[in-house]
Amino acid sequence: MAPKDHPAVGIDLGTTYSCVGVWQHGRVEIIANDQGNRTTPSCVAFTETERHVGDAAKNQIDMNPTNTIFTVKRLIGRRFSDPSVQSDIKLWPFAVAKGPADKPQIVVKHKGEEKKFYPEEISSMILTKMKEIAEAYLACPVKNAVVTVPAYFNDAQRRATKDASSIAGLNVLRIMDEPTAAAVAYGFDKISVSSNKTANTERKVLIFDLGGGTFDVSLLAVKNGVFEVKATAGDTHLGGEDFDDRLVSYCLDEFKMKHNKDISGNPRALRRLRSACERAKRNLSTLTYTIVEVDSLYEGIDFSSRISQARFEELNMDLFTRCMQLVEKCLEDASTDKTTIDVVVLVGGSTRIPKVQHLLNNYFDGNGNQISKGINPDEAVAYGATIQAAKLSGQGSREVEDMVLVDVTPLSLGIEILGGVMSVVVPRNTIIPTKKEKDYTTSHDNQTVVDFIVFEGERAQTKDNYLLGNFTLSGIAPAPRGVPKFDVCFDIDANGILNVSARDRSSGQKKKITVTNEEARLTNEVIETIIQDAERYRTQDEDCRRKYEAKNSLERYAYRMKNAMKNKSITDTLPFATKMVIDDVIQETLSWVEDNPFPDVAKSETRMEELKSICAPIDHI
Ligand code: ADP
Ligand code: MG
Repeated sequence: MAPKDHPAVGIDLGTTYSCVGVWQHGRVEIIANDQGNRTTPSCVAFTETERHVGDAAKNQIDMNPTNTIFTVKRLIGRRFSDPSVQSDIKLWPFAVAKGPADKPQIVVKHKGEEKKFYPEEISSMILTKMKEIAEAYLACPVKNAVVTVPAYFNDAQRRATKDASSIAGLNVLRIMDEPTAAAVAYGFDKISVSSNKTANTERKVLIFDLGGGTFDVSLLAVKNGVFEVKATAGDTHLGGEDFDDRLVSYCLDEFKMKHNKDISGNPRALRRLRSACERAKRNLSTLTYTIVEVDSLYEGIDFSSRISQARFEELNMDLFTRCMQLVEKCLEDASTDKTTIDVVVLVGGSTRIPKVQHLLNNYFDGNGNQISKGINPDEAVAYGATIQAAKLSGQGSREVEDMVLVDVTPLSLGIEILGGVMSVVVPRNTIIPTKKEKDYTTSHDNQTVVDFIVFEGERAQTKDNYLLGNFTLSGIAPAPRGVPKFDVCFDIDANGILNVSARDRSSGQKKKITVTNEEARLTNEVIETIIQDAERYRTQDEDCRRKYEAKNSLERYAYRMKNAMKNKSITDTLPFATKMVIDDVIQETLSWVEDNPFPDVAKSETRMEELKSICAPIDHI
């Protein structure tokens, strides 16, 4: 916990833009940077003589494309071989190389030398910039911060964001989910203005976050000031930059038509055109038409084109529609009817686009839903993070203190058991921080070594889920299968970071892992497909589980009978022939079980009946 006299800041470390706020005079202050802008490009540039961060970096991108780094948030906490990293690399003008332990490294030329940076280092430069913006405003050092991440960020991505903050000299009070932060920004207003009449009823809040490179919809439930993420949906490659792209292609076509020249192969001309298009797009949020203008765009030819709001909307209509479809998907996932949504919160710079607001209005209109846009959409996340920072550092008022925050696990977590089956310890959507224990045992007689393999995902079999890491308990005292007991504990802290431990009850021996960057595998794209797949394969998975359970109870019974046969007081009463028959059938059952990982339920049941009838003489212990 931070000392009271140190101001704590809230930082929204965005894919394309970042924003910082501080709690002052009983309210949130979003701080403008040295250029007077309240959001700062998440952009770092290296030149022959200097390093630029923020607006300065973005402004020189045309001249220095290969050494200007942007959207590094797409790399943080991921492996180089991650398919999403591989496909992003193809689109970037800067180089990314494979570093140690499959970590990506960004390669730039700086002061005449080739330099390599981990994504954490680039993010730390942006965070340092945000810290300095706050320090310049407050005229004192800033140490403590709440930093936000997307709700679907996995453990490795959260950890890497935390590391980036430490490199920037920041003490992270909390890694907070972006939609939760946005809801806090508005929730706080609600608590301070509303009377007790809403205190006990659950309110449903839909967070619609359309930023520069990503689109995220989240459904939150709010009750008594407690926030809970009910469902999330979105597209990690849908946002303002796509709208810029559409304008760029439109202008390219126009240039070709007017001058019969194709500039699509000229990166510098393209980037200059792109900057002009982004400016034009922003203008079109308030003006009905604007001019895209670039002097001497190509071979000395100036470019100028008049674009109307209607044309811009037409160029992007399919993308806007896709956003609405994803809203529908999020509601479907949460089995929630749109008429029950109390508030829709607009987050992200691209929600300033009037057409996006119209579509949302039309979708929710007439249902008594309320669209909140009191807080600037590109500042809402930093706003909420600032409230949380004030709360954690004890600076906020009573209302801030009273508010509780709830985050949930985006996917189920568990360990692999016999037959490659996923045994869930922490189900999906469990409120964190959380600590869950489950006991496990050995699967073979006299087993002295047990592997604990940790997975994340929704499928019945671990081969369809995502490996997070593993560890081994050895030196277990030899005993029949099922006798040793291991307490397995999954502990997730408030930042969503996972520790898994296992303890051998008889020896007290304990091992644990913290899931680290190198070990964690999950990617943003996959998280969405996992949930879709789980849905698609639900019947198949249930079938698989039933087979496994039927087989498992047969196997357990066979082992119990095998142990009974070791009991002399039982076997001595049996005729020799009966003993032989029982031994044989047990042995035969156990080898059948071993050879058939997922037998038909009916087959397991028939065998069970047979086994039970043959074992009847000994089945009374
Ligand atoms: P991030 O996605 O990094 O969280 P923001 O939420 O700040 O970032 O969104 C940045 C995007 O919003 C950029 O693509 C920017 O062009 C766009 N944007 C900002 N202001 C406007 C505006 N007035 N009209 C349309 N788009 C805007
Ligand atoms: Mg954002």
